[in-house]
Amino acid sequence: TIKGSDLANYAFYDDALRQRLHGESYITDQMYSALEQKQFKLYLQPKVEMSSGRIVGAESLVRWQHPQDGLILPGRFVPLFERNGFIVRMDEYVWDLTCQNLRMWIDKGYKPMPVSVNVSRLHFNDGTLTEKLVQLTDKYRLPRHLLELELTESAFFDNEKALIQNMYGLQAEGFIFSMDDFGTGYSSLSSLRDLPFNIVKLDRTFISNGTDNTRGQIVARNTIALAKDLNMKIVAEGVETLDHARFLLSCGCNCAQGFYYSQPLDEAAFEVLSFIQEKAFWVDPQLEEDAR
Ligand code: C2E
Ligand code: MG
Ligand code: MG
Ligand code: MG
Repeated sequence: TIKGSDLANYAFYDDALRQRLHGESYITDQMYSALEQKQFKLYLQPKVEMSSGRIVGAESLVRWQHPQDGLILPGRFVPLFERNGFIVRMDEYVWDLTCQNLRMWIDKGYKPMPVSVNVSRLHFNDGTLTEKLVQLTDKYRLPRHLLELELTESAFFDNEKALIQNMYGLQAEGFIFSMDDFGTGYSSLSSLRDLPFNIVKLDRTFISNGTDNTRGQIVARNTIALAKDLNMKIVAEGVETLDHARFLLSCGCNCAQGFYYSQPLDEAAFEVLSFIQEKAFWVDPQLEEDAR
């Protein structure tokens, strides 16, 4: 609800006003048709092995290609869809697109790399997640470890028992789990201890607020050491500068995702960067010999 004084403040900002008045229903009125008309698009952000500069994986991030409003970022609709439940259907669509891409890469002869998808906590409410994901990976004939499942800490509060059961069930089928946004929530350490995660993704605030002061550096360094002791892989999110990269490498964290390396890219751009370009500069030893 909007107070009268707010209205006055917004009087000169037509767009902002319209968005606040109509924002939620504007989005929810269109979500079903958006899904039907394939307006949700997959963007892929590379994960880079910093020591070699190689792309070793990616994260699937959804965008809404809106016919009037252009490209809408998930911040504007994902929280809404988590409240009204639509996130379940949207996520399943994104996972399907992700698996389509993995299958396409394999069919083109590229060496496939694992891609992570975001999994809303709502998926754990009924007992069908394992079945759904098994069916999906079977449909595209994919090894399960190529589809990594990212859960954010906020997912761990309610339904803890169902969550743990689901996680073990999915792991038994070969799926890999990442703890997303580590270091932002409340239950970080107990989640690290109690839940069977394979990978920890350090939240970007961890990097951007943390690495230019001593206390932040100590926390970051020791968190990385802790995750390593627990035999987990670490991915640093929000790596935006060379300094960030150098600091992380000095802490023993070699895998980064962030604007310093690449923005999230559409499927075609990702393919060029990760496979075609790589291939163009790779010289088959046989060809080298032939040329001599
Ligand atoms: P996330 O899963 O933590 O994804 C990382 C976010 O950080 C992405 O924002 C990405 O564009 C952004 N990012 C990457 N590198 C940098 C950097 O160097 N600096 C800064 N400032 N940001 C960086 P995006 O794509 O806007 O997504 C926001 C959040 O929306 C995601 O956070 C995730 O929680 C959610 N989300 C995105 N796609 C999906 C989806 O398909 N399903 C669900 N359930 N949630 C999604
Ligand atoms: Mg994520
Ligand atoms: Mg994250
Ligand atoms: Mg997040």
